[in-house]
Amino acid sequence: MFQRILIANRGEIALRIIRACREMGIETVAVYSEADRGAHYLDLATEAYCIGPPPASDSYLLINNIISCAEIGNVQAIHPGYGFLAENAHFAEVCRSCNIEFIGPDHEAMAKLGDKVSARQIAIDAKVNVVPGSDGLVTDENEAVKLANKIGYPIIIKATAGGGGKGMRVARNDINLKSGLKSAALEAEKSFGNAGVYIEKYVENPRHVEVQLLADNHGKVLHLWERDCSLQRRHQKLVEESPAPNLPKAVREDMCKAAVRLAKTAGYTNAGTVEFIVDKDNKYYFIEVNARIQVEHPVSEMITGIDLIQEQIKIAAGEKLELKQRSIPCNGVAMELRINAEDPDNGFFASPGTITELRVPGGLGVRFDSHVHAGYTISPYYDSLIGKLIVHADTREEALARMRRAIDEFHVEGIKTTLPLAKKIFNNSMFISAEVDTTFIERTWC
Ligand code: ADP
Repeated sequence: MFQRILIANRGEIALRIIRACREMGIETVAVYSEADRGAHYLDLATEAYCIGPPPASDSYLLINNIISCAEIGNVQAIHPGYGFLAENAHFAEVCRSCNIEFIGPDHEAMAKLGDKVSARQIAIDAKVNVVPGSDGLVTDENEAVKLANKIGYPIIIKATAGGGGKGMRVARNDINLKSGLKSAALEAEKSFGNAGVYIEKYVENPRHVEVQLLADNHGKVLHLWERDCSLQRRHQKLVEESPAPNLPKAVREDMCKAAVRLAKTAGYTNAGTVEFIVDKDNKYYFIEVNARIQVEHPVSEMITGIDLIQEQIKIAAGEKLELKQRSIPCNGVAMELRINAEDPDNGFFASPGTITELRVPGGLGVRFDSHVHAGYTISPYYDSLIGKLIVHADTREEALARMRRAIDEFHVEGIKTTLPLAKKIFNNSMFISAEVDTTFIERTWC
């Protein structure tokens, strides 16, 4: 097992990884930008090094600086967390060429799955349902129009290198499609340096359901059931829960098996997530793979009792997964609420600033994963996540009641947060009866 791990990240996920390492008796090397200097979570690491000025491009994204810290800190492995370099196949390759284990998949599997067109092809090879769409990239506008008419509108244009909803357009007719292809390609070129786009049938009002996987380096791939992440704003998740409510057992089991098949076909290792959209008839379609640990991993931990970060570390160290698929439990219901420093009454604009007062909820079945405290300043340089409030209970009804109680206990002053919206969500009758889809928040409150 590793003696020392560097954490190439910040905030709540850096703290989450430090906690997992401390329980395993592994020392940690944290890195921080000048904006994060003095953050309390850094005190829990064995060592911490400054890697540059506040902008991520001058600090958390600088591969050379991170590798230098790994060498000075004498670590055997790097955990990238999520975001920043987590899905950068070049970084994974550099780590391994420096004899440092990258806690994530092999760089080749990551590159294949990071490109959406090639991931879609792997899904087809693995006999996993994909949304009807183009074979590969769209290169000819007239061919795209022909295909769109064959599939039927609406159509979604997606960037092959896409992420965070960028380079995505919905087209409802030929004119929309032609202009959308151009603007999506331009946005993709600007955001990812890759203008490649493809088209798919746009599934109206879908649910977003994803399957958590763990795969070791010895050919074993397991699923830890699914998460429903339909509650989104601007294609970004706000609430996640497991199991997915109202999903027929047969569909759920089939989807979990499909995700395992896809990972095996891709030669995927470590933790990862296969994302699907589910239509009104409970037909599911593959959309993408997230080749990393995800923000919402705690809901899967709560229902299975498995520490995903510790499993990631053990897999990277070459250990075999001891777990057996049959014995992975699915106990009760877990829900996660992301609390962001944003103003929900003003287009979810970021609301950075100093937290002047903070009282967080507790009690049975309540978990708060966060690096913030009273006096902490939310920086404008990074994402606006303050923390993740997670509840676990025997039934969905009890989990909802527990979350409402926890939200009521939560007291934060000094910044605007998404908590007032969270209160509305958890008291909404449609959400309570699980009749929501990915457009619910925007249709209801925006
Ligand atoms: P990104 O990597 O940019 O986040 P995804 O492929 O994960 O993009 O899609 C993000 C969201 O966009 C999904 O959760 C879903 O809400 C919506 N979406 C993606 N593909 C489709 C589709 N074919 N039909 C309808 N909605 C879609």
